[in-house]
Amino acid sequence: MVLPLPTICVLGSLNIDLVYYLPHHPLPGETLTSSHSDVSPGGKGANQAVACAKLSRSRTLDNASTKVVMVGAVGADTHGATLLDSLQSYGVDISEVVQRQGHDEHSTTGTAVVMVDNCTGQNRIILAPGANATLRPERVARLGDLRPSLLVLQLEVPLDTVLQALAAAKSADVPILLNPAPALKLPDAAYDGLSHLILNETEVALLAQVDENELENLVVVEKTATRMLAKGVQNLVITLGAKGAYYMSKDGQKGFVPALRVDVVDTTAAGDTFIGMYSVLVVEASSRNMEFDIRAAVTASTFASAKTVSRKGAQISIPWKDELETE
Ligand code: ADP
Repeated sequence: MVLPLPTICVLGSLNIDLVYYLPHHPLPGETLTSSHSDVSPGGKGANQAVACAKLSRSRTLDNASTKVVMVGAVGADTHGATLLDSLQSYGVDISEVVQRQGHDEHSTTGTAVVMVDNCTGQNRIILAPGANATLRPERVARLGDLRPSLLVLQLEVPLDTVLQALAAAKSADVPILLNPAPALKLPDAAYDGLSHLILNETEVALLAQVDENELENLVVVEKTATRMLAKGVQNLVITLGAKGAYYMSKDGQKGFVPALRVDVVDTTAAGDTFIGMYSVLVVEASSRNMEFDIRAAVTASTFASAKTVSRKGAQISIPWKDELETE
């Protein structure tokens, strides 16, 4: 008998990234010509769904260990079609992505205008949520039918939808992984009962109200992790960019895993890759009735994201499962 694959459900944003490389950021009233530009599929939700899919199947889409379902909204426009094609090409199930019809601002696909200063590498981003803003709490009702083994959430869709999804998953005993990005203050009750909370330095600094510079010190990271875990979280990971990642779990495990030293080309989607690899390992452990090994998951996620930062792009730079196995 062939058992159905366990499902990861990612509820979140889908955006087209319009990236412009500039000699400097534009001054008021200034018109600048970009040295080059890129149009690529993105959005934290879509990137994390792609990461879950690529890291759980080979590049021929065979040997999948996990089904990945994206829940979100795009416009019935070319950007929306590009995003759906991209998700599908990586093996993500798009049947729960709504295509909005109409001619208002919420009927167009979300876009992110990314202005990159060629000299400093610094980004300035303008986000137009478009259809992402229409992802209403009603969509969450489908979670019950999907019966996912893990629900993955970020904060680029309306907060009331995220809160409703958290409540629905908790009452249905569906484990949740929350990536509170961008960092927005949530009620304490939102953290209570989370199986996994993964956030980066900037996010934890804002949410735990610590100075980001102080997170250079691992003692401060550990104290901050202890406070976040006390909100009722089972497993917590703070990713620390090129330094690595710190983990702590309710059952007393804690530690630091250094990042790998690689030639860094583009750090876009580093955190999304980390979350994708970690999510796949959570679901693989539960489908085999094995205990989740947080240190092993953080180590494997560090390895996968090192591969992503060594390549250009967002979804395209995320490795497939068989690319990691051959190394
Ligand atoms: P985000 O992309 O959400 O800001 P981070 O920057 O913390 O997340 O990166 C997530 C993980 O990606 C890190 O914990 C690390 O393992 C890996 N990573 C990020 N930047 C680098 C880098 N420059 N070199 C090697 N690994 C990196």
